[in-house]
Amino acid sequence: MDEQTARREIVRVGKLMYERSYVVSSDGNISVRLDDGRVLATPTQTGKGRMTEDMLAVTDLEGKPLNDRRASSELAMHLLIYRERPEVRAVCHAHPPHGSAFAVAGLAIDKPILSEVILTLGCVPLAEYGTPSTDELTEKMRPLVKNHHALLMANHGAVAYGADLWQAFDRLETLEHTAKIAILARVLGGARDLPPESIEKLIDIRERAGYLDERGRCQACGYLHETQVVCATGERDGRATAPPAPSNGAGKINLTREELIELLSQAAGLRAGG
Ligand SMILES: [Zn+2]
Repeated sequence: MDEQTARREIVRVGKLMYERSYVVSSDGNISVRLDDGRVLATPTQTGKGRMTEDMLAVTDLEGKPLNDRRASSELAMHLLIYRERPEVRAVCHAHPPHGSAFAVAGLAIDKPILSEVILTLGCVPLAEYGTPSTDELTEKMRPLVKNHHALLMANHGAVAYGADLWQAFDRLETLEHTAKIAILARVLGGARDLPPESIEKLIDIRERAGYLDERGRCQACGYLHETQVVCATGERDGRATAPPAPSNGAGKINLTREELIELLSQAAGLRAGG
C-alpha cells in the first residue's frame, strides 16, 4: 500500500474507533507497515477522532523516528507484532468497553459460543499485566502473538492485527462484539457452548477457507482443548509459553475427552469392580 492511501485509511479507522467508543480522549493507536518497511503510526496524545493525515508519525521497525512527529509510546506493542508476524501489515490498539471489561475481569474471550467467531477470529487470549509502554508489556504479549489474530492485555485493553488495516479493524470489532454478546448472554442466564463436534467442523472449514491456518490450532486458550483437533507443534498441550490466566485459570486442569470420561466413570462407580 502506498503511503498516501495508508495515511487516509488510518484517519478513517481512527474516526471509526472513536465514533464506536473503542477509544476516548487520546487512547489507542493505529499503525501500518508500508511496503518499504517503514511504519506509519498515530501520533502521541492525539484524539483518534480528530486526526488529520499530516499528523502521522513515521518510524523504522525499531521505532526510530523518521519524521518530526512523535509516535505513541505504545508503538512498541505494534513493533513486537510486526517482528513476530512478517505477514501482518496493520495493528489497531484500543480500549473497547466490553473487550476491556474481560481484560479487567482477568478473562480471555475463549468460549465457543459464536460459530462465525470460531471461523474468523479464533479465541482471544489474555496477556498478563505489564506496564503500558514498557518491555514488561511486550514480554507478556510475545508468546501469544504468533498463534492469535487479537489479544487482550490484562487491566488495559485489546489489540488486533491483520494483513491490512481493514482486517485489523474488523478483528478488533469482532472481538468487541463477541465480548458484548458474551456479557449479555450472561445476563440472560449464561451462554451455551457449541459442542466439540461442531467446533471441529468449524475448524476444518476455517482452515480450508484460509481464515485461520493451522497455527490457530496452537492457540493458547480456549475450546480446542475439548476437541480432537491435533496441534501439530505440540505448543498447545505443552502450554510452555502461555501464561496462566490470572484469576480464572488458577487450578485449571486440562484433560482429554477420554481422560475425562474415565474420571467420571470412576467417580460414578461404573467401572468393573469400581
Ligand atoms: Zn492502551
